[in-house]
Amino acid sequence: MTEKYDLHCHSTASDGSLSPKKVIERAQQQGVTSLALTDHDTLNGQQEAAEAALAQDINFICGIEISTTWENKCFHIVGLNIDPKNEALNSNIKKLQQLRTDRAKKIAFKLEKRRVPNAYESVVKMANGGMITRAHFATFLLENNYVTSQQQAFDRYLGKGKTAFVSTVWADLQETVSWINQAGGVAVVAHPLRYKLTASWIRRFLTAFKDIGGQGIEVITGRSSAEEIRRSLAFANQFELAASVGSDFHTPSNQWVELGRLAPLPDNTLAVWDLFNTKT
Ligand code: AMP
Ligand code: MN
Ligand code: MN
Ligand code: MN
Repeated sequence: MTEKYDLHCHSTASDGSLSPKKVIERAQQQGVTSLALTDHDTLNGQQEAAEAALAQDINFICGIEISTTWENKCFHIVGLNIDPKNEALNSNIKKLQQLRTDRAKKIAFKLEKRRVPNAYESVVKMANGGMITRAHFATFLLENNYVTSQQQAFDRYLGKGKTAFVSTVWADLQETVSWINQAGGVAVVAHPLRYKLTASWIRRFLTAFKDIGGQGIEVITGRSSAEEIRRSLAFANQFELAASVGSDFHTPSNQWVELGRLAPLPDNTLAVWDLFNTKT
């Protein structure tokens, strides 16, 4: 059987629409052989997913997507092959969870000033105990006809600099990488082309990331074009980072992003999973 890796996706533990168990079942249907569930700033879905993976033919890798701030910019760092019981990691992400709740209240307050009431109660209900993200606010705005698409919700209200944007200082980049490493995992830069950075900023960022113990970068994500794969692979080679692949799947209703629907890694590429077994 050919191996098919997908090392970045979401469940109801954050802003995905499927439960961790359903994510595993869908991954199996899509022919994924190794899956990492990487919810935003939480490990709450890991146990359910790991148990479901045992019942399927899936090699489950514990993961997380941590929100970080470096030089006033937000970067998502995926931690792969971590010990989900690691105490330092668990206590540090609690702070991010509190930050998410506080930010959600502030976003709702700003929306209220724009004559959009009841957002906080609605997203709390929608998240149902999972992490509240801007994706929940986008869904709320869409369902209540304030906007006509998720993208419009970001363009009008939630995106950087828009009326309901709340600037947030997330986890420190260096600390995040060390929490992941201490939990036995590998730190990977998520979706490197999505930060809208100039070439010189991305070089500075990757230099810093590598210096502090980062080991991987996503080379193939859900909708990567051949050109994007080429550019990301060039970063991997230039900064000696291992290549990761992850769809960033959130929901079956986004027909463009599906679990396991990823281009293969080019030959002779160091894959991030080659680092999993060699870690002590
Ligand atoms: P947060 O981490 O709370 O700032 O929320 C970020 C999440 O919102 C991402 O993980 C995506 O799921 C979603 N998101 C961000 N930008 C967009 C966009 N332009 N359109 C749709 N969803 C987006
Ligand atoms: Mn998300
Ligand atoms: Mn992300
Ligand atoms: Mn993600």
